[in-house]
Amino acid sequence: MIKLRAIRGMRDVLPDETPMWQWLEGKFRHMAFRYGYQEMRLPLLEPVALFERAVGEATDIVSKEMYNFLDKSGEHITLRPEGTSGCMRAVLEQNMCYNKTQRLWYQGPMFRYERPQKGRLRQFTQFGVEAFGMPGADIDAELIFMVRDLFQELGILQHVRLEINSLGTARERSQYRQELVAWFEQHRELLDEESLVRLEVNPLRILDSKNPQMQEMIEQAPRLLDFLEDESRQHFTTLCQLLDSADIPWRLNTRLVRGLDYYTRTVFEWVTDKLGAQGTVCGGGRYDGLADLFGDKSLPACGFAIGIERLLLLIQAVSDKDNPQWHYRPDVTITSELEDGNIRALLLAEFLRQRCPQRYIAVDCSGARLKRQHQNALKSHGQYIVTLNHDGTIRLWDLVNNQQSEVSDAQLAEALQQASVR
Ligand code: ATP
Ligand code: MG
Repeated sequence: MIKLRAIRGMRDVLPDETPMWQWLEGKFRHMAFRYGYQEMRLPLLEPVALFERAVGEATDIVSKEMYNFLDKSGEHITLRPEGTSGCMRAVLEQNMCYNKTQRLWYQGPMFRYERPQKGRLRQFTQFGVEAFGMPGADIDAELIFMVRDLFQELGILQHVRLEINSLGTARERSQYRQELVAWFEQHRELLDEESLVRLEVNPLRILDSKNPQMQEMIEQAPRLLDFLEDESRQHFTTLCQLLDSADIPWRLNTRLVRGLDYYTRTVFEWVTDKLGAQGTVCGGGRYDGLADLFGDKSLPACGFAIGIERLLLLIQAVSDKDNPQWHYRPDVTITSELEDGNIRALLLAEFLRQRCPQRYIAVDCSGARLKRQHQNALKSHGQYIVTLNHDGTIRLWDLVNNQQSEVSDAQLAEALQQASVR
């Protein structure tokens, strides 16, 4: 017999966890709403060429992490590895920025064929925000304000730090790239195998290396910031000033280059020390050059993405696990010792749901003996157990105050209306 298992790196989110997901999704939605961002729902499948062009063939994502396949008509299709490219595709295709700006967000699964480990999956979920048509550093700052606001609301702000850098324009970067390659050539003997490959295809990514033997040499390498011309320098200075005025502490990380090629000027990450090596919970930046790659008119844009699974790991690591919003707990469980109890119980539940719409009411339809029904109801940590007795009476058991009483249908509804919902 074949043992059926989920695909490696793809996990089931079980009912024990979904309340926490819903709680977090609610926080995202609310935050986006308060900042004036509208939701986009984008396809999971896109043409391979979209990412080859947008993310860049020299990146890890395109060179080794995509789930590509041919569909029945021979089209090269892929499961999206990230959201920005698809969002840009949609905005251009639908002409959404004709004489106007757009503030958008989306949420959903992304797919990357990486080595699964803590905080790294092959199917993971991102919450992404993108702002189109606005070239200034003010909007870069707005995005960072949003994340600060969200992290504060989630109670994790003191466990993350903001790192920022500027990658300049394509021209500034290409001058820097020459100098950087020259520097690495001089220190070739220190480069590891991966860096030698990167030296050919994507030398900036060497700055990202964690190899301890290379750290000192990398620290002394030329800095991109020193190659910025006036406009890029001004953009970066304005951003820093805006962050300071909003009391957001930041750290300049001149080695922050990010794994995607489309960034220009501002890049940022929110990083935590609580999750080991997979410590980046949010990454983003400006990508003014991306629309040009699509052969369209220029469209300035910037955005960020948060990895939801990682964010949940962080929240769990630093918060009190008993937040009642993270658990499903039926307020009221209806049990019965009658032969035809299920029908009576279902009808009673309908009656109560009409009158007490804020209550979460569950009916025990297991057919088990009453004692077992009560045991299960007690395990779910609810507020009340209602029992339909043999003699037709109804018993209300208030678990919080440990009181039992005999009630009519109407008295039951009234009691549930009056008591506060936890
Ligand atoms: P990392 O440095 O961790 O590989 P990245 O730079 O590849 O991240 P982005 O492409 O910027 O990540 O995606 C934004 C966020 O999505 C990351 O900060 C992270 O929280 C999350 N993320 C990225 N890849 C994965 C993955 N394989 N599994 C879980 N979360 C991920
Ligand atoms: Mg990555």
